[in-house]
Amino acid sequence: MSRIDEKLQPVLAEVLRRNAGEPEFHQAFTEVLESLGRVIAKHPEFLETALIERIAEPERQIIFRVPWVNDNGKVEINRGFRVQFNSALGPYKGGLRFHPSVNLGIVKFLGFEQIFKNALTGLPIGGGKGGADFNPRGRSDGEVMRFCQSFMTELHRHIGEYTDVPAGDIGVGAREIGYLFGQYKRLTNRYEAAVMTGKGLVYGGSRARTEATGYGTVYFVERMLATRGHSMEGQRVIVSGSGNVAIYAIQKIFSLGGRVVACSDSQGFVVDDNGIDPELLKEVKEVRRERISEYARLKGGSARYVENASIWSVPADVALPSATQNELTGKDALDLVKNGVIAVGEGANMPTTPDAVRILQEANVLFAPGKAANAGGVATSALEMQQNASRDSWSFEQTESRLAEIMHTIHDNCAATAEEYGTPGDYVLGANINGFVRVAEAMNAFGVI
Ligand code: GLU
Repeated sequence: MSRIDEKLQPVLAEVLRRNAGEPEFHQAFTEVLESLGRVIAKHPEFLETALIERIAEPERQIIFRVPWVNDNGKVEINRGFRVQFNSALGPYKGGLRFHPSVNLGIVKFLGFEQIFKNALTGLPIGGGKGGADFNPRGRSDGEVMRFCQSFMTELHRHIGEYTDVPAGDIGVGAREIGYLFGQYKRLTNRYEAAVMTGKGLVYGGSRARTEATGYGTVYFVERMLATRGHSMEGQRVIVSGSGNVAIYAIQKIFSLGGRVVACSDSQGFVVDDNGIDPELLKEVKEVRRERISEYARLKGGSARYVENASIWSVPADVALPSATQNELTGKDALDLVKNGVIAVGEGANMPTTPDAVRILQEANVLFAPGKAANAGGVATSALEMQQNASRDSWSFEQTESRLAEIMHTIHDNCAATAEEYGTPGDYVLGANINGFVRVAEAMNAFGVI
């Protein structure tokens, strides 16, 4: 039953044993390991030097108390995390997630994926991730600010332009980055712009960073569709989620002539056969910070709000899961296939369960894994670091064209690697191997570290 090479079975057993009780990390690790049998056949030195076990062990893990005072004057406590996973290719780089589900296993799965994603961009960034089990939803601006300041009061001693460069993720957007960066600057008395990315434009942010993950996912999927002679024009698309990734994916699909027929939040989804309006969605989610049900109410007409059902049952040609991990299950994949889906691209990190990936690939659906398809966000973060290092600020067009070029290169590298390793069109294999080999070669050059 196992798709893992026999020589790698002891590696699997050891890594699972050492990381008990972390199902998401197991899932992410197992998926990468499934791709590596063919790599160690070509590179036995990676096995001899325990390279996979070393990559699976974070270089450093920081867990800390985050005490803060709420609006009622009561003290609340959250748990903060930063997993500095791998710095073979550059300073640790990856977002911070503020969500009640955050725990060490979740941060490790995200950090592990980030290593290979960042390697795929071809830019000098290592992999890391962090966050807290704090829920910004329903909190006042003042509460969010005090939480961020307390979080940074500990985190600041572990990060730096040449050490570790955090950014946003779920629950951490422009507002939170502002509070975090402001506190870092105050504590260190240094204007170290490249210590964080996703910053506001007036204080060292990059144009197109906000749009980058969503736009990049669409660029990747467009390129993948082209391998079978399709384009985005006229496609019916489902984009789950309605956060930063989903909003800008929807905007880009709209501008390419596609039609987004459904999007969602954690409570339900909106279906609109006439297409979701990205500007109204932005207003509802980013300005009013409201639920998606509010979008349906304001839009009226053909827009319908649905609860207690799966968004993946809506008929579509292309599906972009862009909400959160494991949101698209085997049953959902069967529905998509039944309705004739031709491509699935992960805007979120690991949103498709392993059995769903298998079902889609066996049905010959084009499937783009998140570590390749959603790499545009972190790639543009690396461009932000470049602009900060040269004390420069690029135009939107220049930044977006670099992003498009990077996404096309990632696509082509994944496709070429899949072909080289004997499974043309398998982007999961292509992404895992291409990312892994870059990190492994650098680590090998460093000796046993
Ligand atoms: N959180 C994003 C990701 O999952 C972006 C990280 C960054 O820009 O550092 O890749």
